[in-house]
Amino acid sequence: MLDTPAYAAEAAKAPLGPSSIQRREPGPREVLIDILYCGVCHSDIHQARDEWGDAIFPMVPGHEIIGRIARVGGEVQRWKLGDTVGVGCFVDSCRDCEACKAGEQQYCANGMTLTYNGRERGSQAPTHGGYSTRITVDQDYVLRVPEGIPLERAAPLLCAGITTYSPLKHFGLKQGDALAVVGLGGLGHMAVKIGAAMGARVTVLSHSPGKREDALALGASDFIATRDPAVFSEHKGRFDMILDTVSAAHDYNAYLGLLRRDGTMVLVGVPEPSDLAAIALIGQRKRLAGSLIGGIQETQEMLDFCAAHQVAADVEVIDIADINTAYERMLRSDVRYRFVIDIASLAAR
Ligand code: NAP
Ligand code: ZN
Ligand code: ZN
Repeated sequence: MLDTPAYAAEAAKAPLGPSSIQRREPGPREVLIDILYCGVCHSDIHQARDEWGDAIFPMVPGHEIIGRIARVGGEVQRWKLGDTVGVGCFVDSCRDCEACKAGEQQYCANGMTLTYNGRERGSQAPTHGGYSTRITVDQDYVLRVPEGIPLERAAPLLCAGITTYSPLKHFGLKQGDALAVVGLGGLGHMAVKIGAAMGARVTVLSHSPGKREDALALGASDFIATRDPAVFSEHKGRFDMILDTVSAAHDYNAYLGLLRRDGTMVLVGVPEPSDLAAIALIGQRKRLAGSLIGGIQETQEMLDFCAAHQVAADVEVIDIADINTAYERMLRSDVRYRFVIDIASLAAR
């Protein structure tokens, strides 16, 4: 076993602090990755605070991992020492169910193995994520990081990137479509960049009026400040697609009113439950959908798409000692637009 420095939450109400975990030597089909950067997703906060229930403590969060292959198991063909790779939200799945066979491991009928706050298949040992200096992963659940994307700006693609890319593709966003992105945080800013790269006309809907300039600089052509309730009647029926990335409870019915006939609103943010009125969908034959990250193959496709279109996250690199402050800032919607932890400097300590 490899003694590995990490940052962990000991309990749901506890701040994160320095800790140590054990990583295993890679098995025949596994690789050991030295982690360089790890993005900070709002899901890390939801889970470290046990807002979704059944959280496993101590918890080492982090599922936007970029690193270099440090050791490979005897049967590993795909990877060699020094390769720059990524790990996203899951590290295993059953490989046998209909979803896994379709390459959509995130919908595994037997449950994907989350990168952290999950349990290993077989041993049931708790999994630990990227707020640590290394990780051992099955070779099939590792992504190749294409050249041309600065590594700290690539890390958020492993969750925020794929979570926005997948639904835009799956629900058929087309060139020239009017796309609304609700919430300009980590996911939201990636949705703006990816949506624009797919050729959509992107409008940001935000409860932070001060983000207007940023939204336009990120590639949006319009910005709507949602604090003024009049905007919901002003922009009624305007959008072909809405991607809702908001992390706190809000009124879905109001946003559904902004869809045109046959439009689709996709939820990716996971706040507490809130009420839905059937009439909000019935009137103009609208669709309300949800989407969960993306499969391994599609994540690779997204990374290659981002490299080809020069899309990367806008990041603020932080020291891991500042992680609790970063969480507080995210809860105040004060992130521009993803915190990324410099893990190499934790390893150097
Ligand atoms: P984030 O960076 O904190 O951004 C969330 C944004 O939501 C904020 O920047 C803010 O944007 C908006 N917001 C926050 N509180 C609000 C409020 N009270 N009213 C209205 N808007 C509010 O979070 P993230 O990392 O992008 O994650 C967003 C959500 O997606 C989280 O719930 C996360 O768990 C979930 N998630 C889902 C998946 C999936 O597979 N479906 C994957 C990753 C994350 P404005 O300031 O612009 O309003
Ligand atoms: Zn995430
Ligand atoms: Zn499966």
